[in-house]
Amino acid sequence: MTASLADGPACPVPAEPGDRVQLGHGSGGRLSARLLREVFLPHLGSPALDRLGDAAVVALPGPEVAVTTDTFVVQPLEFPGGDIGLLAVHGTLNDLAVQGARARWLTAGFVLEEGLPLADLERLVRSMARAARAAGVAIVAGDTKVVERGRADGLYLCTTGLGTMDPAFRPTADGVRPGDVLLVSGPIGRHGMAIMSVREGLGFEADLVSDTAWLGPAVEALRGAVGPAVHAMRDATRGGLASAVIELATASGVGVRMAEPAIPVPPAVAAACEILGLDPMYVANEGVLVAFVAPAFADAALAALREVPEGREACRIGVAVPDHPGLAVLETAMGGTRLVDLLPGDQLPRIC
Ligand code: MG
Repeated sequence: MTASLADGPACPVPAEPGDRVQLGHGSGGRLSARLLREVFLPHLGSPALDRLGDAAVVALPGPEVAVTTDTFVVQPLEFPGGDIGLLAVHGTLNDLAVQGARARWLTAGFVLEEGLPLADLERLVRSMARAARAAGVAIVAGDTKVVERGRADGLYLCTTGLGTMDPAFRPTADGVRPGDVLLVSGPIGRHGMAIMSVREGLGFEADLVSDTAWLGPAVEALRGAVGPAVHAMRDATRGGLASAVIELATASGVGVRMAEPAIPVPPAVAAACEILGLDPMYVANEGVLVAFVAPAFADAALAALREVPEGREACRIGVAVPDHPGLAVLETAMGGTRLVDLLPGDQLPRIC
């Protein structure tokens, strides 16, 4: 069929309807300005961002800052218990928190796929804004690029966090000493299995909800109760509890003994792991921290953690030992032992 002139001019690339992301939204022109004005600034605005300079100017209260950066590519963009926006804020702020820093500022870089519904984008941006506000953090700089349809899965998000250091509270990755008690702030494996449950259609969605949470209050509780007795902390994200513990043990040149029955694994996580052949020790969390605490302060640290919602189910799961540096030994309920080491690769791709 040939189109006649009466049909109007032929357009080989149909224009995107106004409710979807278009390539022009990344052009730096009028569409970009409109996206900034209508979607980003109303939700993510802050005094430093609203000035719309080429760089945000912020005032440092002390001589030292902590800086961390993270990129989020999780699929699906929304999942039980959270979404990519929430995850980006929590993940970035948690890296600051477990370093002992007080989170102050965030920046966000968006890579949007042409055709992404603007309503979806706005929902995710609103979610980011809510999480940042809850943590008392200002989003001070950002950038948006748009790539052609099929070249990104809706959106990718890169966030950088800046926090200020407290000289009296400096947990470090290499700070674990033999005898330190290993605490975990809550049940493990929920984030990774919530994502997998949706992706694999396991039907556990009601029971498997991501644990994504800001760990700032849990860290503040530890700082307030035992301060410098916290020798090392890490959020147990990709690679799960096992990887976080082994990384700290390796950096500190100690071994770790863990009691398997003490490790909190929710029944739904255990069931889903069983079906997929996964080990919950390696499944990602987004709201769980591990801490090595000087033995005399371990009870006080545990009690303080249990006072905050993110740490209500905190427990003591192991101890640092001088033998087998860089390795963890799991004592099973049957009285046997199992060696825990880093996995060669990722058990679950695209979970954050
Ligand atoms: Mg981390």
